[in-house]
Amino acid sequence: MNTVLHQDLNDFQNILDKTKETGIDFLSNLEDIPTSNKYSIDPQNELNELGLGSLGALEEFNQRLAPLMVASPGPRYWGFVTGGSTPASIVGDWLAAVYDQNPQALSAQGGVSALIEAETINLLLELLNLPNDFSGGFVTGATMSNFTNLGVARQWFGAQFGKDFAKHGISEKMNILTATPHSSSVKSLSMLGVGSQNFTLVKTIEGNREAIDIADLERNIEELNGKPFILISSAGTVNTADFDDFEAISKLRKKYKFWWHIDAAFGGFAAVSEKYKHLVSGWEAADSITIDCHKWLNVPYESAFYLIKKEHINLQIETFQNSNAPYLGNPLENFNYLNVLPENSRRLRALPAWFSLKAYGKEGYRDIVENSTSLALHFANALIEEEQFELLAPIRLNNVCFTLKGIENQEKVSQFLINLNDTGKVFMTPTLYQNRKGIRASFVNWRTSEEDVKIVIEEMKNVLETI
Ligand SMILES: *Cc1c(COP(=O)(O)O)cnc(C)c1O
Repeated sequence: MNTVLHQDLNDFQNILDKTKETGIDFLSNLEDIPTSNKYSIDPQNELNELGLGSLGALEEFNQRLAPLMVASPGPRYWGFVTGGSTPASIVGDWLAAVYDQNPQALSAQGGVSALIEAETINLLLELLNLPNDFSGGFVTGATMSNFTNLGVARQWFGAQFGKDFAKHGISEKMNILTATPHSSSVKSLSMLGVGSQNFTLVKTIEGNREAIDIADLERNIEELNGKPFILISSAGTVNTADFDDFEAISKLRKKYKFWWHIDAAFGGFAAVSEKYKHLVSGWEAADSITIDCHKWLNVPYESAFYLIKKEHINLQIETFQNSNAPYLGNPLENFNYLNVLPENSRRLRALPAWFSLKAYGKEGYRDIVENSTSLALHFANALIEEEQFELLAPIRLNNVCFTLKGIENQEKVSQFLINLNDTGKVFMTPTLYQNRKGIRASFVNWRTSEEDVKIVIEEMKNVLETI
């Protein structure tokens, strides 16, 4: 064994203790660490001949790189839809690295890691009040979950014509209907060879809505003359957290033949709250659902899962099977994750979610979701009181979409946001909503409090003076 590796092997305890200190340093100062910075690093492109050892590398990291890390897991990072990491999820994540398993087969010979993954999916189904006729597995993010789900949808579409697209490629014009698809669904259509422009945009409900107009959906379906189609629907759009009407879509299933996919990356968590669960009412009838864990479940990146109805397992295996490796056997008899999702080797990605679900239970997640939604309302009300701001959409859940009041101030919105983000006190994302430049603040972090809202409002007032 290489001598540096050998030294490290003998010094594990010390190395992990020092690593823990670095972690605590960051996590306990998160409130004060800037949410953005303008520094960059001097790239050091030469790899040293002699290794530094873990502690040497840690020292360089702490000096050169750690100070540049932004507080994206912190309470005032409201850009995109960015969750933090609960303490238990960090335990799970660290242990996932320590145990370094590769969850594949459910059989005992492969260790229990795949069983932990299956158990975690069941806990999530229970948290979200979904039936267990869904099977699921972990992928890196909602983008990969959409890819996985739409991959099986593509196979289903081919099967309606007696064709196996996975084997022979796409040989029928695919019909895809959607109103407000997330960019990652469009990207998935590109990656799947369906084509990123190959979908029909259905109208949204008149007025201040991003949800699908059911009447226009039916009109589009009628135009297909009985041909099958894929519906990509939304549980929580990123701008205004709007939801398609899942009860209405469920009813359409009786009349028409389609694969129903729901992107519920963050909006699915409405299900944990008595106040908001009506938003997803009827979603259990979908064929596939995408949900992110690194957003509202507050576990570290990279964590999301797909849900696909068990009745589609054959289509799923046709899409992703890797069973030309002879040692893997019949994919239907010997369940193996590598036959049902894109990746082959994977880390024990379920473990952070498993730990966090066990640690905080249903009540913990109800509290996180309801804290986020009440802070979104609180922030929105505080904005309205300031008079220089206006909301672009009502607050439906946890996202606040707003702008500077008055059409004449549209040209100032971008500079305002740049200056605001430059303060490092808060981070928000620019958006375009109904042809107006806007700003989006998304509340999903378990650590955010009313005090944070107060700090941000003060900062916003100061920044207004600068533009
Ligand atoms: C965030 C998000 C995605 C993409 O998720 P990643 O985890 O970044 O891959 C997809 N759909 C919706 C609705 C989202 O909010």
